[in-house]
Amino acid sequence: MTDAQTATQYVYRFGGGTAEGGTGDKNLLGGKGANLAEMASIGLPVPPGFTISTEMCTRFYAEGEAFPDSLTGEVADGVAHIEQVTGKRFGDVNDPLLVSVRSGARISMPGMMDTVLNLGLNDETVEGLARISEDERFAWDSYRRFIQMYSDVVMGLDHGLFEEALEIAKEDKGYFNDTEMSADDWKALVGQFKTIVADERGDAFPQDVHDQLWGAVAAVFKSWNVERARVYRRINDIPHDIGTAVNVQAMVFGNMGETSATGVAFTRDPSTGEHAYYGEYLINAQGEDVVAGIRTPQYLTKAAREAAGAKPLSLEEAMPDTFGELTAVFETLEQHYKDMQDIEFTVERGKLWMLQTRTGKRTAKAALKIAVDMAAEGLVDRKAAILRIDPMQLDQLLHPTLDPDAPRDVIARGLPASPGAASGTVCFDADTAERLAANGESVILVRVETSPEDIHGMHAATGILTARGGMTSHAAVVARGMGRPCVSGAGELRIDARARTLTVGGRTFDQDDVITIDGGNGQVMAGRVPTLQPELAGDFATLMEWADDLRGLKVRANAETPHDAKTAREFGAEGIGLCRTEHMFFDAGRISAVRQMILAQNEEGRRAALAKLLPEQRSDFAAIFGEMAGLPVTIRLLDPPLHEFLPREEAEFVGLAQELDVSVDMLKRRADDLHEFNPMLGHRGCRLGITYPEIYEMQARAIFEAACDVEASSGAAPLPEVMIPLVGTRRELEITREIVDRVAKEVFAEKGREIAYLVGTMIELPRAALMAGEIAEVGEFFSFGTNDLTQTALGVSRDDASRFLGDYVEKGIYARDPFVSLDVAGVGQLIEIAVERGRESRPGIKLGICGEHGGDPASIAFCAKVGLDYVSASPYRVPIARLAAAQAALAS
Ligand code: ADP
Ligand code: MG
Ligand code: MG
Repeated sequence: MTDAQTATQYVYRFGGGTAEGGTGDKNLLGGKGANLAEMASIGLPVPPGFTISTEMCTRFYAEGEAFPDSLTGEVADGVAHIEQVTGKRFGDVNDPLLVSVRSGARISMPGMMDTVLNLGLNDETVEGLARISEDERFAWDSYRRFIQMYSDVVMGLDHGLFEEALEIAKEDKGYFNDTEMSADDWKALVGQFKTIVADERGDAFPQDVHDQLWGAVAAVFKSWNVERARVYRRINDIPHDIGTAVNVQAMVFGNMGETSATGVAFTRDPSTGEHAYYGEYLINAQGEDVVAGIRTPQYLTKAAREAAGAKPLSLEEAMPDTFGELTAVFETLEQHYKDMQDIEFTVERGKLWMLQTRTGKRTAKAALKIAVDMAAEGLVDRKAAILRIDPMQLDQLLHPTLDPDAPRDVIARGLPASPGAASGTVCFDADTAERLAANGESVILVRVETSPEDIHGMHAATGILTARGGMTSHAAVVARGMGRPCVSGAGELRIDARARTLTVGGRTFDQDDVITIDGGNGQVMAGRVPTLQPELAGDFATLMEWADDLRGLKVRANAETPHDAKTAREFGAEGIGLCRTEHMFFDAGRISAVRQMILAQNEEGRRAALAKLLPEQRSDFAAIFGEMAGLPVTIRLLDPPLHEFLPREEAEFVGLAQELDVSVDMLKRRADDLHEFNPMLGHRGCRLGITYPEIYEMQARAIFEAACDVEASSGAAPLPEVMIPLVGTRRELEITREIVDRVAKEVFAEKGREIAYLVGTMIELPRAALMAGEIAEVGEFFSFGTNDLTQTALGVSRDDASRFLGDYVEKGIYARDPFVSLDVAGVGQLIEIAVERGRESRPGIKLGICGEHGGDPASIAFCAKVGLDYVSASPYRVPIARLAAAQAALAS
């Protein structure tokens, strides 16, 4: 071991009015540790403790799951610190100090890693605790909890064994609730628990408190690498190498009788964003009882209790003084962190203790309301409000909601745990949910309650429904974080996971049945309920306006139908960045003319077919231009290989042969002629326009005639930007541009009016990026077609990549799917080169991006950095792009 290593500090103390570290030290202390330190140093009541840093986690794994010797002394000093602040001693048989050992990574992973409570109890200290607290029942309850948790987390025993023993003990006594267990009952159960441990392990439950502590510390570090934690990190894009910290903290007890309690709370409503305290608590209970759903938690406020029509008193009513203290803490925390907080607290014999605070996870709706409200309250400025919204989260609001006027066959009601509506087939386990979703099926995951093992199924499901569990249950918290609609605690449901049936109100649903859930009001409905399109209004619209004031990048949409164009405008698109004309060719009424063109033997035959298509294309463009009057519309001329339009089925060939009055054999021969080994790199893009100029001629004519007509009828012309695909050389663009210019001239002469237009190209081949200087001499704009550019630069076919890309991302070869988030290091360079060379030869050249990446926030940040003029995204992604563009501007 080197000197530098021995000198590293791994243990950081907090409590007793001070702390070594604070919120800024999340990387080192983990979120929980950093915030405990921060709360301690701003004078909030935090039980004293210490944090073993994430650096120790990394070192623990580097050294084969072992601790360096230096840690022993540091931990001893940490324990001494807690003893000094509390006046109790660890292992003292008269007045024992008990601690919790808690995990806590830089990024919160709720419920994913392990925690041990009440550590420091053994056969002797439990007696001391009983005497000093004058509460035998409490002492033995704490001891049995400790054995239960320690056996599970540290010794890896099946927790079911202990739960079963408890259930049997209750049944024997005829008890319904844990609270009915007496001191003697708990004492007897502790005896049984110890027997279980001895039987399972062949070794007694550890009585040495220091052994207990080191066992728990190692177990928490190890929990970083368990499967469910790895899955959670994969889903949430959290790196595997950042490690967790371990927090050792003096216990405070919510299970010391009727003046003690424990709870969780949010400083604002995490579902709606309403500025109302929100939370749940339990009297005479310990932390994990609230989340575990063993007892039904009580409401925090009187208003919430009344709204729910619940009887058990709220904290506000049961412990008004404590409630007052707690709400004062809420205000302090919001003023301090300037954000909504999610907290854990415990009341020990009337004294309030804070056990955790973190930035609260919230729905997109709540995120917008909180950001706009906090800006209005002066807590944050508009820039901070904008930076705080995750653009991707807005996706939740850009999906359809249930039509309020549609009939609903409501079969049950639960809690509105995570908003949004979802329909899907009923599915009873996570693995099946994942499998069905992979086949493109929508499923509703139906569980009695969810556990961290279900996380992959929750991610795959379109919605989650549970029979048990409150608003802060595992299902609710995870669903809100993922943006999945969730109804929890629908108690009327009888779920038989083995038989795969769901029974309610005398009706039974199985895996083939579709149900709908509304996470906004807790309804569960039979069948599929029709939905309404989302719109931009209220806080959403306000925040978008603020974003628009800040961003430099323009945002356009990819749209090829008037409907999409209209949606795009409603979401704030400032033009169309990509209108793919081939989609228009697939229309049932036109496909035969398209096929006739493709199969024609000569130019004359092609022209005859194109003449049929001209009026159709013209009316398509006219409708889109009508929606986009005064705005730029980039139209890409025909791009895909022609064989994509040909029939595949025998019957289709026969039908087409009749229609065109040719033989089936002849048609098939022609189709064979068109077969390509590698169509992606074959006869497509501008290569079609070069070999069959009459196709581009027809399209150009349709565009200019439509533009003239729209101007004539509405007075406002769009700005057509005619885009030539798959250009790799200057000459290709010259030849195709000549066609477009010639047709424009003809049309303007015929119509007696001139429309301003541009002709440009996509940059989607590496050669085009490199030769951008020359190409810009001919083209007036570049649009980066990053789908093809990624495909051609990486040499990865995007249609075949799904077989291996998952592995590539899992193994860290690509940080993210390069077709989703731009490969900035590689493909990004090609873009930078093209921007620089294009601008050099044509200053002021218009630059945009039209691949899928145009809607990805990280890629948008890159586009802003290299100085593109606009990004173009699918209509539903336009608001995401507007926000991401504003954030990119603020970051620069
Ligand atoms: P998680 O990250 O899963 O919430 P925590 O470490 O926060 O795990 O702990 C689990 C539960 O135990 C929480 O309800 C917490 O409030 C409670 N708890 C943790 N430490 C203490 C303590 N020192 N005293 C009392 N309760 C505690
Ligand atoms: Mg916690
Ligand atoms: Mg392309």
